[in-house]
Amino acid sequence: FTSAIVGALVALSIIALVLSLVRVEDVTLPPTVKYGMVFDAGSSHTSLFVYEWDSDKENDTGVVSQTLSCDVQGQGISSYANNPPEAGNSLRECLDKALQVVPAEKQTDVPAYLGATAGMRLLREQNSSATEQILAEVAKTMQEYPVAFKGARILTGEEEGAYGWITINYLLDSFTKYSPKAHMWLRPEAANIFGALDLGGASTQITFMPEGSVLSQNEASEFTLYGHSYKIYTHSYLCYGQNEMLKRLAKELIVESSSSTRVPHPCYPKGYTETVSLSSFRASPCTDGSDPRLALGDSTVTLEGRGNASACLAALRKLFNFSACGQSQHCSFDGVYQPPLRGQFVAFSAFYYNFKFLNLTEGQPLAVVREAIEGLCTRSWEDLSSSYPKENPKQLPKYCANTNYILTLLLDAYKFNETSWNNIIFQMKEGSADVGWTLGYMLNLTNMVPAEAPASLKGHRP
Ligand code: AMP
Repeated sequence: FTSAIVGALVALSIIALVLSLVRVEDVTLPPTVKYGMVFDAGSSHTSLFVYEWDSDKENDTGVVSQTLSCDVQGQGISSYANNPPEAGNSLRECLDKALQVVPAEKQTDVPAYLGATAGMRLLREQNSSATEQILAEVAKTMQEYPVAFKGARILTGEEEGAYGWITINYLLDSFTKYSPKAHMWLRPEAANIFGALDLGGASTQITFMPEGSVLSQNEASEFTLYGHSYKIYTHSYLCYGQNEMLKRLAKELIVESSSSTRVPHPCYPKGYTETVSLSSFRASPCTDGSDPRLALGDSTVTLEGRGNASACLAALRKLFNFSACGQSQHCSFDGVYQPPLRGQFVAFSAFYYNFKFLNLTEGQPLAVVREAIEGLCTRSWEDLSSSYPKENPKQLPKYCANTNYILTLLLDAYKFNETSWNNIIFQMKEGSADVGWTLGYMLNLTNMVPAEAPASLKGHRP
């Protein structure tokens, strides 16, 4: 009997030893680094982002870091309508740089995406065959590189908004958090989820989780992430990006002016002039030349800066159709449904660039912001260009227009007020990563933001 017990004990210890060895093996397998890359083919330029993460942390949050960002030389891919192969070639320099940061043996496993946004949405309206050719050319170029090409396509505005929202909340750890103390993943507070405000060259997006349900299917998206369901509101306004807005403003000023050749521009600095050809308005569906007030032909008009902040704001407001909302409380402009704002927002892309120029990204109250913008608008072109010699001379004359546009968009259109203004955080980076839609897009397409709670919940986490 004793020997039977001893035998059983020996057997049990052997099993325990084997199990512990298996377990040790299980946890000591060295994690490998994985990579992914996404091209953001925007209206005014293209950027490539390379991301990396540890293979054993795939389903955690906030673990992806940005290895590389690379600005493609030249204009956005939509500018290659007359020469689509060049759109493909324009990507080569950044693809070469990407291959320098990814070890050779891993390159063929790197998922590679290209997402195009509003510039290509606009081109598709005008010339769908050129749009297809450009996408085919960029795909062809990407396929020449030893990476796992996963597609080149145009995102919808709603996808652009939703992926930006995923990026922010992923980077800021607001979806779910592991508590080492409680040994569990904690449920996020809905109120701590951030909204996303994105201002591009041709479109702008607002995305947030409203209090109640989203009452319009067009603007509703639902995600199940880490075991929780999120119902978000997102809307993308095509032609309300800052470059298209500036063109629309110039066109309105021209058609309203009594003079046909010299037109005052309230948002440009005094002493600054810009010559535009009327035919340029025909290049975008946002300023389509079908307006009978715009003479056809190729005459030019000189816009003359007046540096007048209040006239600038008034002219910008006219670009929005506020009356289309009637008496509706849940409406932004142009008759678009928008539920009441909720929680904190991260404002990135051109919201950030313009405010950064004025050092207004530190949470300044609205009154301070207004004063800074008014002060900027009164400065002459001579003063500005000598005070900011290092600033891009293409951007410098536009900061008064852009910042006033941002005020109009945030306050009049989206309905932020003096109080809720303080809920807007102007931010472009979180750790190593840029804020934008690309990270959210990659996380979603590689299933790195799972519907279920993280698998590591079940077992041996620290
Ligand atoms: P997209 O090309 O759609 O991503 O748009 C980015 C927007 O940011 C464009 O309107 C650019 O002109 C604008 N932008 C880029 N850099 C700056 C900057 N330093 N200051 C102001 N706007 C900028």
